[in-house]
Amino acid sequence: MTYSNVLLFIDGKWRGGSSGKTIPVLDPATEETIGTVAHADIADLDEALAAADRGFKQWRAVSPFDRAKVMQKAAALMRERADLIAPLMVQEQGKTLVEAKMETMASADIIEWFAEEGRRAYGRIIPARLPGVYQMAIKEPVGPVAAFTPWNFPINQVVRKLSAALASGCSIIVKAPEETPASPAELIRAFVDAGVPSGVINLVYGVPSEISQYLIPHPIVRKISFTGSTNVGKQLAGLAGQHMKRVTMELGGHAPAIVFDDADVESAAKILSAAKYRNAGQVCISPTRFLVQKGVYKQFIEKFTDGAKAIKVGNGMDKDSRMGALANPRRVNAIEEMVQDAKAKGATITAGGHRIGNKGYFFEPTVVTDVPKDARAMNEEPFGPLALISPFSTFDEVASEANRLPFGLASYAFTSSTKTATAIGSAIESGMVSINSFGLALPEVPFGGIKDSGYGSEGGTEAMEGYLNTKFITQTGV
Ligand code: NAD
Repeated sequence: MTYSNVLLFIDGKWRGGSSGKTIPVLDPATEETIGTVAHADIADLDEALAAADRGFKQWRAVSPFDRAKVMQKAAALMRERADLIAPLMVQEQGKTLVEAKMETMASADIIEWFAEEGRRAYGRIIPARLPGVYQMAIKEPVGPVAAFTPWNFPINQVVRKLSAALASGCSIIVKAPEETPASPAELIRAFVDAGVPSGVINLVYGVPSEISQYLIPHPIVRKISFTGSTNVGKQLAGLAGQHMKRVTMELGGHAPAIVFDDADVESAAKILSAAKYRNAGQVCISPTRFLVQKGVYKQFIEKFTDGAKAIKVGNGMDKDSRMGALANPRRVNAIEEMVQDAKAKGATITAGGHRIGNKGYFFEPTVVTDVPKDARAMNEEPFGPLALISPFSTFDEVASEANRLPFGLASYAFTSSTKTATAIGSAIESGMVSINSFGLALPEVPFGGIKDSGYGSEGGTEAMEGYLNTKFITQTGV
């Protein structure tokens, strides 16, 4: 499949924006323009809103059993088309073909899981005080959803929101990322080809702030879901609050990865290296602050640094590339600045630290050790291939460092002691804790943060809750 110009999908039709405006799409590995994406204006949003309103009325009346059948067909189409879709993602996002294929295949698992979960959106019967009284709590779809998704996982970020919304009986307007528009458009196409009725799914691109300012307050929209930076998330949650809209916010992180003296250091370094440099570190749950106990500090640095140096960076389409380009120049600049700042404050660079070449947004897998707490990277989310390693002595010290930042998304710990594993799992303030493995982000497990990392879940049964209202009905004399 060659990269082609991406259209909006409104009320069952693929079409350009009403103004005819388009936005160029670049390949981050070559910096060349590979296509365009259509730009939605207010007139297009109005059409999408009216379609979502009609689509909701139709889709909510379809039984969860039949909704699941359509969704399962969409999942099958994603699997069938994965070899065609994955290269589109590589070209627009920069990740490797293996990663793009895995993301595309994983979307099918997510769709299937939510399809089944929709069939289990159980209510309950509450025992009554009097005979002949039936008290029921039932689940109903919340209504049309506006979903805003970022460029780091172009399909994955959409499919979680889309699948939970559709399984619950909601319609949706997806504002997908302008920088990586083609692969999420193929996800929408799979649902359309599977038979989702017109108006149930609408796809728009344009100026993100214009679209969110218009959709969030709009009376047709009943639920907002956003994935992106904490900064933008707080603005959108504020706007949603003014209009009393339900919200799911999946925001930034700064994951601590704690390695205790009694851990299997080799295995910890291997697992954490794969997790760190996946998608060139542009992952909200990427391990970032590596906190390593003094007894194994040197050994861990050595193993982790060797691993980082061995990673072959290159165009995601090349078979032997293990890490692709960063998705946009903003990330290259940010990582460059953070490395310089850490160095100036006394940190040591044991691997990488530089941009690669001067064409394409490539950056070396970078390891920085003995990083002072006031370095920028120790406080801001790097969102790139940057590992920051620091030593610690005691459990209390590391627990306090892990919880120092306002973020609370993912965290990791490695230890062979059950007692330490239990204690750290309980001490860490984050929405997800993975101990001795990388075990996050499966469709069936909760996925979400606390504190400045947001609220609500994008995985597990909890994700369905965000798209459902609880209605209480008490009925007497029947
Ligand atoms: P950004 O903060 O401007 O944008 C982040 C995302 O939000 C993008 O997809 C963007 O299109 C969208 N966005 C921005 N303003 C918006 C608005 N007013 N209304 C609706 N959507 C809006 O910056 P960026 O350079 O694209 O990304 C930088 C930072 O964003 C990263 O450092 C990272 O912290 C965060 N980010 C997080 C995730 C995640 O998975 N949680 C994904 C991508 C980016």
